[in-house]
Amino acid sequence: MSFLPYGKQYVHAEDIEAVVAVLQSDRLTSGPVVTQFEKAVAAYVGARNAVAVANGTAALHAAMHALRIGPGDEVIVPPMTFAATANCVVFQGGTPVFADVEPSTLLLDPERVEERISSRTKAIVAVDYAGQPCDYEALRTIADRHGIALVADACHSLGATYRGEKVGTLADLNVFSFHAVKHITTGEGGMVTTHDDTYAKRMRLFRNHGITADFQQREKGSSWYYEIIEMGYNYRLTDFQCALGMSQLRKLDDWLAKRRRIASLYDEQLAHRDIAQPLETHADALHAYHIYVVRLAGDNGTVDRTSVFAALRQDGIGVNVHYIPVHLHPFYRRMFGTGPGLCPVAEEAYERILTLPIFVTMTEVDVHKVFATLAAAVESCIVGRM
Ligand SMILES: *Cc1c(COP(=O)(O)O)cnc(C)c1O
Repeated sequence: MSFLPYGKQYVHAEDIEAVVAVLQSDRLTSGPVVTQFEKAVAAYVGARNAVAVANGTAALHAAMHALRIGPGDEVIVPPMTFAATANCVVFQGGTPVFADVEPSTLLLDPERVEERISSRTKAIVAVDYAGQPCDYEALRTIADRHGIALVADACHSLGATYRGEKVGTLADLNVFSFHAVKHITTGEGGMVTTHDDTYAKRMRLFRNHGITADFQQREKGSSWYYEIIEMGYNYRLTDFQCALGMSQLRKLDDWLAKRRRIASLYDEQLAHRDIAQPLETHADALHAYHIYVVRLAGDNGTVDRTSVFAALRQDGIGVNVHYIPVHLHPFYRRMFGTGPGLCPVAEEAYERILTLPIFVTMTEVDVHKVFATLAAAVESCIVGRM
């Protein structure tokens, strides 16, 4: 039986040709294709700078480094995200402070952010959960009022817009991932876009050991000399990965349209049957649908998510759960004393959410199959019907 994963990449023959061409060239890494890909992503989102790094987690780390986050600093993050959003603060010795999400969208709630701000707060990291941009106007107002930075973890939202503006320009630093499951892929890969030249410069140093002149510049000057002027890492992305990224980026708008079409099919079907509710979407945002998330249980009973999950997996539907709230992970409980009750909206949502398959090559027949299987699973898993 075929298995429908919750998400997967689409690599076409021309993508492979583009990668092979670079593999046959003289330069495999830190060459011209990295720069081309950075320019292409910067142009796509409308940002002044784009800095390519090894993965989305490294991109978040680079953003925290650019902001000079360090011990004693607090950074506000939502709990409904992949752990890397909070881990990047810990990498720098800072303290992640969790602010709850809005119940209807599971996006960072500006009111909860305001409550968590202290004299030590240095930044807010907003996560465009599922692919829908956060309320950047409200978040910007708060950030400006307190003189702190706004970062977008836009790993879900490449190609989304907020009030007509593309994600990638809405925060001071905007972070993308090109992991295989994201909108476009380089296998592993990440990027930070920013209008700020100082941040961009810091991140270019950071991804290459804090070395002043990169290899190309040294080659031009035919000199062996370089200096380590800051602590840095090897967070470089390769040229052949960027060749894949370039080729994928050309298809992004097409793929976004496909994702939106699948989401609207799900929306339509869910509207007719009381088995699960999609998350709400804002009229002033254009969703990128990295994932399609529903909340189980209508008014007619409590649906046991674990059973529904198991039933769907049994039938070859690769449902998933995004995410276990980060503050509930043992590491966070131990290190930062977090735990249940800290973010009740995220905790309640976590018990009921389910991610349904959505990917570019998914057909309408696949969507109907997922919906029918979900409906049957929910019917058989309703407990305590009133
Ligand atoms: C994928 C993802 C990341 C991390 O990206 P990697 O490329 O896997 O390191 C960070 N935050 C969110 C919200 C993500 O979805």
